[in-house]
Amino acid sequence: MINLISKLPLVGDTIFNEMSTLAREHRAINLGQGFPDYQPPDGLIQAVCNAMQEGPNQYAPMEGIPALRGAIADKVQGQHGRAYDANTEITVTSGATEALMSSILALVHPGDDVLLIDPAYDLYAPAITLAGGTPQRVALRTSTKPHSGFLLDWTAVEDALTKKTRLIVLNFPHNPTGLTLKEADLDALEQIVARHDMLLLSDEAYEHIVFDGDTHRSPVSRQILAERCVLISSFGKTFHATGWKVGYCCAPEKISREIRKVHQYTVYSVNTAVQAGIATYLKTEASLGALSGFYQKKRDRLVEGLNQTVLRPLHSEGTFFLLVDTRALGKHQEKTLALRILQECGVATIPVSAFYANPQAAEANHQLLRLCFAKQDSTLDSAVERLQSLKAC
Ligand code: PMP
Ligand code: GLN
Repeated sequence: MINLISKLPLVGDTIFNEMSTLAREHRAINLGQGFPDYQPPDGLIQAVCNAMQEGPNQYAPMEGIPALRGAIADKVQGQHGRAYDANTEITVTSGATEALMSSILALVHPGDDVLLIDPAYDLYAPAITLAGGTPQRVALRTSTKPHSGFLLDWTAVEDALTKKTRLIVLNFPHNPTGLTLKEADLDALEQIVARHDMLLLSDEAYEHIVFDGDTHRSPVSRQILAERCVLISSFGKTFHATGWKVGYCCAPEKISREIRKVHQYTVYSVNTAVQAGIATYLKTEASLGALSGFYQKKRDRLVEGLNQTVLRPLHSEGTFFLLVDTRALGKHQEKTLALRILQECGVATIPVSAFYANPQAAEANHQLLRLCFAKQDSTLDSAVERLQSLKAC
């Protein structure tokens, strides 16, 4: 008998896979896992098809094709005024997922602590565990104002740091709350890194989806933060192409060199034609600035619809998610409620408790569910119609 010792004994199927599988089984409208139910732009599909027909279709360079790394350098410089050397500081990865895993495996050593801000995207903690580190978790503060969600508390973040904290993982615009970074947050972060020597991992997968006229702020817009930061993003959300799995990371050369050592032995390189198509599209047609307006209309449509139900939407500042307060339905574990709504209404959602270390714990259950509004208007309207059958208890 093989004595198999799990490296991740507490990890099961992700909540996203679990809810999507159930949604398929129940033929439910899937507002759970975050993906659009529409196609990437025609011009992008055409650019990828052309690249595939023209070739090359063999291995791309390990660090990504030069045209795409160049386009990413231009994009980041335009957004944040930060110049990255496309040859040594930008790496194309298999989605943000692989960029995160490669970065954490490269940078976290056994015995290191890594600070996560709860609710935290599900990948971070297992990646830290695989690297031999220990996730330390500090919670976003829940606002005292009704339906206004979560707040960042930098004093609590600083208080949670230990002598062994090697890295802080940031994720703004934030999945699942939609919270975005303000200039004051970057000021606070600057103060913290001036007092504590550590690295930053900034997961900016939703960088192009920020609402109400505000703009996305990255730690890399500040010199002292950029020096120690790995910026990670994904073209999945930006181009409605989550299935293509192309992302990137930008970091100072010394840090990028270490990340590439892991990247080259996990995927080696990323789909050549998709890289070439994205590079062409970024240089010619892409209008990234239009994405926020596109999603703001969807957010507002869903909020208006939800206001006709017993669920109370919380304000979302960015991403394509919003949270709903389910208190009208009585006090339940969020997962129980998500399963009930799936079965009774045929709408899949994500319990926010899944973004905490222990989803069953009272501190993880705020009676909130996450809804994805990256859906056609008709899908959102049908979901709302179904949710109208929920009755307050
Ligand atoms: N980080 C966050 C916060 C996410 O929500 C996701 C999922 N979209 C990812 C990383 C993974 O991105 P990708 O699909 O590009 O691997
Ligand atoms: N990031 C997506 C979400 O939050 C899920 C991606 C995945 O399933 N790995 O819904």
